[in-house]
Amino acid sequence: MVFKKTYSTLSSEELIAKEKSNMDEQRFQHCIGVSETARKLARLNHYDEEKAALAGFIHDYAKQVPVEEFIAAIKDPANGFDQDLLNWNRAIWHGIVGSHFIERDLKISDDEILTAIKRHTTADVTMTTLDKIVFVADFIEPHRDFPGVETARKVAFANLDDGVGFELAHTLEFLVKQRAKIYPKTIAAYNVWSIKKE
Ligand code: GDP
Ligand code: FE
Ligand code: FE
Ligand code: FE
Repeated sequence: MVFKKTYSTLSSEELIAKEKSNMDEQRFQHCIGVSETARKLARLNHYDEEKAALAGFIHDYAKQVPVEEFIAAIKDPANGFDQDLLNWNRAIWHGIVGSHFIERDLKISDDEILTAIKRHTTADVTMTTLDKIVFVADFIEPHRDFPGVETARKVAFANLDDGVGFELAHTLEFLVKQRAKIYPKTIAAYNVWSIKKE
């Protein structure tokens, strides 16, 4: 795994070392899986493979950042975060607020990459090709094992937009079964990407 110096001032080795030191081994392996799957989806969808592989690799960089650090980042007026984020948790923060840590620690300023990180958990009403690639790769990478993952892979490799729709419906079903609080953006995204066409 080698990342060209296009999107970060860090070398590939530095980038990989920082990613690895910020999470446990299982999460690190997940990130490698997402990177490889993102590369594959990029090839299928005529998107920049290097950029997709990098975005996939770093998407969960902040997954295990301590809660206190997230809260401090949200409260810091310099960052301009919506204070409603304080009502959520790390499941929601690690993408939306995680992009702040990625910019700071991994020296990445590319807006398309940072936006894909921000949207990788909840998706959004509008999604760029890179947003879709990271969102879907996260769900279907080879380490993922849940009832329905094979269907998710088949659908996503056949059509990226359908992959987004399938994933949002599946995630919402899972969250509703648990009576979990749904982030409004997740519902808005579902209404765009998962609804059957007439
Ligand atoms: P991961 O970081 O690779 O585990 O995957 P994600 O970033 O996609 O999701 C992290 C967690 O957030 C998962 O357990 C999702 O089910 C959960 N999640 C996704 N959308 C929502 C939401 O709207 N509300 C809540 N409470 N959790 C969500
Ligand atoms: Fe994540
Ligand atoms: Fe996801
Ligand atoms: Fe992930």
